[in-house]
Amino acid sequence: MATASDTIAAVATAIAPGQGSVAIVRISGPQAEAIGARLFRAPGQQVWDSHRVLYGHVVDPATGEPVDEALLLLMRAPRSFTRETVVEFHGHGGLVAVQRVLELVLAAGARRALPGEFSQRAFLHGRLDLTRAEAISELVTARSRRAAQLAMAGLDGGLQRRIGALRERLLDQLAELEARVDFEEDLPPLDSAALVAALTAVRRELEQLVAEARQGALLREGLRVAIVGRPNVGKSSLLNRLSRRERAIVTDLPGTTRDLLESELVLDGVPLTLLDTAGIRPTDDAVERLGIARSREALATADAVVLVFDLAAGWTPADAELRALVPEGVPLLLVGNKADLVEAPAVALADVAISALTGSGSDALVQALLQRCGAADVQGVQVALNARQRDLAARASEALAGSLEAAAQQLPWDFWTIDLRAAVRCLGEITGEEVSEAVLDRVFARFCIGK
Ligand code: GDP
Ligand code: ZN
Repeated sequence: MATASDTIAAVATAIAPGQGSVAIVRISGPQAEAIGARLFRAPGQQVWDSHRVLYGHVVDPATGEPVDEALLLLMRAPRSFTRETVVEFHGHGGLVAVQRVLELVLAAGARRALPGEFSQRAFLHGRLDLTRAEAISELVTARSRRAAQLAMAGLDGGLQRRIGALRERLLDQLAELEARVDFEEDLPPLDSAALVAALTAVRRELEQLVAEARQGALLREGLRVAIVGRPNVGKSSLLNRLSRRERAIVTDLPGTTRDLLESELVLDGVPLTLLDTAGIRPTDDAVERLGIARSREALATADAVVLVFDLAAGWTPADAELRALVPEGVPLLLVGNKADLVEAPAVALADVAISALTGSGSDALVQALLQRCGAADVQGVQVALNARQRDLAARASEALAGSLEAAAQQLPWDFWTIDLRAAVRCLGEITGEEVSEAVLDRVFARFCIGK
């Protein structure tokens, strides 16, 4: 990524034809104010000053043609998100006008911003640490309220404080050790029991963070659940029933019909993608075979499988064949449907008995499904590491294990410090205190454009 000496620009709002009542073009860098002044005409006696809003028009400087009616917001360095001078044009939404405004800004000397480049500059200028920057991106992409809450906790610095505190504790111990390596004769003997206890305690906390990261990943990324079953057992009915259950937060994707094939919903805080794998059975029909291939693929990529069978028909050999198709190790829930049709459902085989028709048993189904996926107690998670942070925490924990091993074997202190220093470095990479440019580029490249 280029140095932060040039001026960058991007559309900061979602772009869609005919949508969005406001569109923002954001400019950051040393040329931002000059570009803003060049393209904006504010009528009357409006005062051009930092942190004021001006009303006027964005015009093409070559022709004088007004391109959009807009507000201009100037934030001079360092009182802005990037700590550079920032100019924003707040124009009418939609597609065409905002794109033209951006083109004029680029023609006036700005460069198109890379994904996450505004946030990267904010980080490079010390406006936020790396965990907060990543939390911004996670807030934008959150698919459930709980995921958004977790991101907000990260944005408030909860993660940075926790990791920072662990790193401080390790640095204290490292200082003790390094002093002994250099000036052993001048110092009181090392309290190695205390040091081992300190490293062990930090390691335990890291291990807990790693464990909680899995819960966080569930909240952030959600689960893909394949619904399989013989024709007419009630898969589509179940899918529709579950989608209705939390209507308020179901995203109605354009193009989906009443009989959903794939449905995105949030059940008890966990975002789920449910896949209706219509009809896996032996067939000569080419079209149907294609559908079956797709279903098998869904099975292979699913985080969990719900196998629906018909309680009225009982467990049949065809159901058993389907069950055999579920890959080893994938959480599987056996759901007996049409409980309303049978007197006393023969549920011995089923994990839950439901009626997709009446809705009975659907709460129990959701609970059992989340339980089986280890997602039943995601509600208690307070901070959650993302995948990058989790790997680093795991590496730090491993390095500490190495240090503790050196201590147990009473190796010379140099051996303790090597691993201890590695652990400190890993934690510094989480918060961004010790991080290479290549890693930064990779982190920010995952952001959306204009962030
Ligand atoms: P799919 O082929 O597995 O997707 O099954 P459908 O959801 O299309 O359902 C097949 C038929 O079973 C439809 O007529 C449904 O109305 C009916 N059905 C689905 N669930 C239930 C249920 O719980 N009870 C009863 N009585 N009928 C159901
Ligand atoms: Zn169906």
